[in-house]
Amino acid sequence: MPEKGLPLRITLLGIASQYVHSSLAPWCLQAGLKAYAALPHEALVVEGTVNEPPEGLKNRVISTAPDLLGISCTIWNIRTISGLLPPLRAALPDCVIVLGGPEVSFCAEETLCALPEADYVISGEGELPFARLADALGGIGRLKEVPGLYFREDGRIRANPPMDQSGEWPSPVGPGYLQALNGRIAYIETSRGCPFSCAFCLSGRGDRPRACSLDRACEEILLLANSGTQTVKFVDRTFNADRERAKVLLRFIAGEAGKGIPGSVVFHFEIAGDLLDEETLDIISFSPPGLFRFEIGLQSMDETTLRRVRRRTDMKRLTDMTGRLIACGRARVHLDLIAGLPGETLHMFLRGFDEAFLLRPHELQLGFLKLLHGSAMREEPETYPCAFDPLPPYEVKSTPFMSEGDMSDLHIIEHALDKLYNSGRFIGTLKYLTGDAGIRPSELFFLLGEAIQTEEEGRGPLSLDALTNLIYARLAERLPGEAGLLRDLMLTDRLASTKTSVLPAALKQEGTGLHEARQILFRLFPRTAGVPRGVGLLSEQGGSKAVFCDYVQKDPVTGLYPVNSADLPL
Ligand code: SF4
Repeated sequence: MPEKGLPLRITLLGIASQYVHSSLAPWCLQAGLKAYAALPHEALVVEGTVNEPPEGLKNRVISTAPDLLGISCTIWNIRTISGLLPPLRAALPDCVIVLGGPEVSFCAEETLCALPEADYVISGEGELPFARLADALGGIGRLKEVPGLYFREDGRIRANPPMDQSGEWPSPVGPGYLQALNGRIAYIETSRGCPFSCAFCLSGRGDRPRACSLDRACEEILLLANSGTQTVKFVDRTFNADRERAKVLLRFIAGEAGKGIPGSVVFHFEIAGDLLDEETLDIISFSPPGLFRFEIGLQSMDETTLRRVRRRTDMKRLTDMTGRLIACGRARVHLDLIAGLPGETLHMFLRGFDEAFLLRPHELQLGFLKLLHGSAMREEPETYPCAFDPLPPYEVKSTPFMSEGDMSDLHIIEHALDKLYNSGRFIGTLKYLTGDAGIRPSELFFLLGEAIQTEEEGRGPLSLDALTNLIYARLAERLPGEAGLLRDLMLTDRLASTKTSVLPAALKQEGTGLHEARQILFRLFPRTAGVPRGVGLLSEQGGSKAVFCDYVQKDPVTGLYPVNSADLPL
């Protein structure tokens, strides 16, 4: 540690789940040091991922030789951090190590007991407390004045009172963050907190939600959109909690798209479907296709279940407005469901799953409840009894309403849903099966999920061709009278979703001349030189009808290539 009154060398470590996700937290702390610290500390950001070799990450931190190391902790990186702390402590014996972030904020005492290498935990927002801590360690101010600080004293763990969270927080969007993005997903935070207080979530636990000024939000949007990224993701917990504000920002982005904002950049928001209104739908309907992506947490389609987790939802409005948002076709929509909520049985969940699927979102995520430190569901076990994994991410294993067997059936559905639907690979086929063919989505995904699980057992994930052959065989067995139609639908899906020059066995038409068809199509529909084309023959009309796809540009909303069909003069 330097002498009193001297600035510190500080390293801020952020560990993301994947390289493509940048870490915002260390940049927020760096901005906090600039805004609040009395001493001119030198703060470096080190970013890593949970997938990189820990040795490399450790060496990168050690090479910065910090006096103070701040680490941002989440459920996704806490295991990596727990493993890194002992070697970091051994290599940096004089460095002060402080942990913060949502994973340790609500169990700070427990964290200091479990991780003796850490000197401090900061609970809650970190910008101001971290700056005060750095100053105190540099000899300016006292540790007792650092809000939300947990520390050891006389063999006990003590805590300073938390900070009153109000006003704007310093902007992390500076030259350092913009340069470090390097094309990765850019994060922006224009509001903090959430006006709701769902029992499984931490976002509504803080003080009243607050937002930064619209001018600042617009300035940051432009900076991030021009950083070289393809995606700007709002971390605002419920972006449209303040509808009027949300509309101003959506209008701003739509107005700047293709001008101040490069045409290829997309913007991702988490919103509440029942808070959508006509004006917001209008803004989206007239925006460039694919500019906006929305994630809507349905969580459950059962109002009683939602009430049990203290979630207020107008279900009729939610399904109506969400359905209209999807149907307008301008924005990609991702819906979330959570399995394992209190009072929800397997039967109830599957009914909700079917309803959610039939809204035809572009993606439907079947997630499993996680009991986060600090959530009401974790802190009130009598009200919310359930068995959960004691290790992060604390996934629920069973509840009084859903057995472990039920949960594993849902994992089978989840796996098939991701592979077949969320991947975009079999969209048209699944739409037919769950529409005109009248099969319940949950039944269908379970049927196909079991087949996938059996095939993958012992040999790992199937190739796309093997998966296609398997799915076709299973569907043809289930609907033998429709084998030809199913092949045609799967063929069209294949061409639309994947650049294909050679078709898998199940999608080839036996005894017909694909080569000849290809030649005819080239004469009838000349393609641009260098553009690959996928061709297949449909079963209908005895193989005299073809489908083909020129792989030029995907639809910005669906992510699929347009497929054409043509009668062949064979
Ligand atoms: S789940 Fe969503 S709406 Fe509920 S408190 Fe969390 S962020 Fe807010």
